[in-house]
Amino acid sequence: MRSALLASAAVFAFLVCACARVDGTGRRQLLLTSPAQENQMGAQAYTDAKGKEKPCNDAATIAFVQRIGQRLAQVAKSKDSKFDWEFTVFESDTVNAWCLPGGKVAVYTGILPFCENEAGLAAVMGHEIGHAIARHGGERMSQGAVVGVAGETMGAVLQSQGIDPNVTNISMAAFGGLSQVGVILPFSRKQESEADYLGLKYMSEAGYDPHEAVKFWGRFAKLGSGGTPAFLSTHPQSADRARDLEAKMGEAEKLYQAAPEKHGAGEPVPPRYREMKTGGAP
Ligand SMILES: [Zn+2]
Repeated sequence: MRSALLASAAVFAFLVCACARVDGTGRRQLLLTSPAQENQMGAQAYTDAKGKEKPCNDAATIAFVQRIGQRLAQVAKSKDSKFDWEFTVFESDTVNAWCLPGGKVAVYTGILPFCENEAGLAAVMGHEIGHAIARHGGERMSQGAVVGVAGETMGAVLQSQGIDPNVTNISMAAFGGLSQVGVILPFSRKQESEADYLGLKYMSEAGYDPHEAVKFWGRFAKLGSGGTPAFLSTHPQSADRARDLEAKMGEAEKLYQAAPEKHGAGEPVPPRYREMKTGGAP
């Protein structure tokens, strides 16, 4: 009897957990993970990534990334998850950037030539932060876990999916985007456009000209034929992207105009990224 009650309580907790709305867009999403669970997995994956990647020691680069990150962190708020922001730069030719649940952000120096300026990187980081605020990692895990869920506890469900919060590599796989574990799990198109929208809002509120986002994604789209950088394989180019961003531009411009400080395109990327070849992009 007692265990039946406990099981009912677990199912109830499950259902409460499962009904959520995305911050900033109001879209309903399925979430079987709690923010605390997601953030714990994010923090662990972050520690692991920092142990594997080479840190960037260039003070100008670190300051550049930190400055943009802090400005975005001021405006990217989550109503039900406490973010403990951290921004790390990896010295790597990999064209990539990501934000794990809880606000653990990494920028690979390989993406900086494409950014050209602060606003370009704000577009990238804003997009990645959008994935984290909207809890897309937890949503993807939940969608994977939903089959055969009835009556099981959260721990059992995660385990049935091979997800153990204490196993770093698996948690990284669950959140994807990390090329070094060899697992690339692209977000859905709906999640991508949601991250685009949230990123555009964040960069505008942080005082960066939102038109720079369209320019960045345009430069980035030209990368297509030149190999498959990690970021591009998790962020497939869609013909709708520029059109969707343009459609949101009126709203973004209002946020930009209301921003207490305006930076326009911001400073150009540090000199060492201006001369670099950008992977065959014309
Ligand atoms: Zn994305």
